[in-house]
Amino acid sequence: MDSLNLDHWTRVKDRLRSELGDDVFTSWFECMKLEAFEKGVIRLSVPTRFLRHWVQSHYSEQVLSKWQEEEPTANRLELTVRSCNNTAYIPTLKAALAPASNGTNVVQEPTNEHHDIRHLVGNRGAQSMSVREGLSGSPLDLRLTFENFMVGRNNTLAHAAAKQIATAGHNEKLMFNPLYVYAGVGLGKTHLLQAIAWAGNTTQRKTLYLTAEHFMYGCVSALRRQTVLAFKEALRGIDLLIIDDLQFLQGRSTQAEFCHTLNALIDAGRQVVIASDRQPSDHEGFDDRVRSRLSGGLVVEIGSLGEELRVEILKSRITAAKAVHPGFEVPQEVLLYVAKSVTHNARDLDGAVNRLLGRNKLTGEPVTLEMAKREMRDLIRPVELKRVRIEDIQRIVGRQYNVSRADLLSSRRTANVVRPRHIAMYLAKILTLRSLPEIGRLFGGRDHTTVLNAVRKMENLVSIDGAFAEEIEVLKRQLQD
Ligand code: ADP
Ligand code: MG
Repeated sequence: MDSLNLDHWTRVKDRLRSELGDDVFTSWFECMKLEAFEKGVIRLSVPTRFLRHWVQSHYSEQVLSKWQEEEPTANRLELTVRSCNNTAYIPTLKAALAPASNGTNVVQEPTNEHHDIRHLVGNRGAQSMSVREGLSGSPLDLRLTFENFMVGRNNTLAHAAAKQIATAGHNEKLMFNPLYVYAGVGLGKTHLLQAIAWAGNTTQRKTLYLTAEHFMYGCVSALRRQTVLAFKEALRGIDLLIIDDLQFLQGRSTQAEFCHTLNALIDAGRQVVIASDRQPSDHEGFDDRVRSRLSGGLVVEIGSLGEELRVEILKSRITAAKAVHPGFEVPQEVLLYVAKSVTHNARDLDGAVNRLLGRNKLTGEPVTLEMAKREMRDLIRPVELKRVRIEDIQRIVGRQYNVSRADLLSSRRTANVVRPRHIAMYLAKILTLRSLPEIGRLFGGRDHTTVLNAVRKMENLVSIDGAFAEEIEVLKRQLQD
């Protein structure tokens, strides 16, 4: 990315921020990334489909016209969803394989990416749940129930806690509140939360499942329409509130509103369930009291899926696929091979079954070990990417360049400190999902533009200086091992 375009982008964002206000800006634009600007097309990416949809329908013209003020040749805005794994070729198969639509089942966009398997097996459906007050929840996927959730060593506790909450009676005393589940991508957080929501719906309790983004949307539009009071009341009438992907909750007033809701519900003895990609203490946006409230119930991590669990999940996917495509046969050795080699997450397992099914249906080639090896090539990751923590980055960079962590965070500006600091900020940007302001805060309360400058400098150095690029690679490897 050339720096001229990055400068355009920074100025466009600055102007959007001052026009829309901090809260609206942070909610919708903070995690937006400029991918490219070429031939008049501005390519931006966001982490979820919901964000893409929202920005597209509400802000695309504003973004385009701001960009045109910078660069008159701009004529189109393209928004994509940044994906975390590689299932790139599935969409082309989707069209060919999805059972003919007979128009009877309204299928909504799922809130997660990569749910392609449901297209293939044809039993995906989504339903919107509403509570009496008119607060409507995020769509629920018909397939994400307890019946379809496989239990293994690393999710036993999360599953048991979820089940307990789901089956608790209306006025039963709560065992833990909130239940806070965290895990990396594709390990079953959303599945578990939606299973609770489906189950909760069959009890007397008023149940609401919301992604943090829908919560944010509700909040921002209530602020705009001056219906905050009604919004608050509606939320506080919920018996079982389930919030998914808390890491996407941004914006000061939205966070504040979330905290009030959390406190009010817990104090009133209502159950709250939360999922996130990080521990409560890693939510820098929240203050200490909220973080401690988040960890005040039961905090459970869902670990990586063990091989046995992967086999079980694959079996259930293949059975589901067979129900729709009867000729689809997967030999045991292929199943074991896939379970052994596609280790990253359950979403990749879905991708794997899709590929086998796709190849089999499109070409008539039987599913064999040889075919599976060919199809799985890019789903198999040589190195499992670990979640990297900023503290570890600071520690390892500090050790490498012989600088203390305190110095990295200090305001000292001597060259022997500045360079490692820049490197650490750069690594924080490329190895974690943290935003620039968050990184700034974790580096001794620096401004996000300072971080941005450091990142750019390092990007530039990496691209022109081979030895430096190698140094960075070594650090990256140490952090990811
Ligand atoms: P997350 O929300 O943690 O990113 P999801 O809940 O969306 O992950 O899971 C990704 C896919 O993997 C979904 O299709 C889900 O049904 C499946 N999956 C994850 N864990 C399990 C499990 N334990 N049993 C069955 N399917 C699972
Ligand atoms: Mg999820």
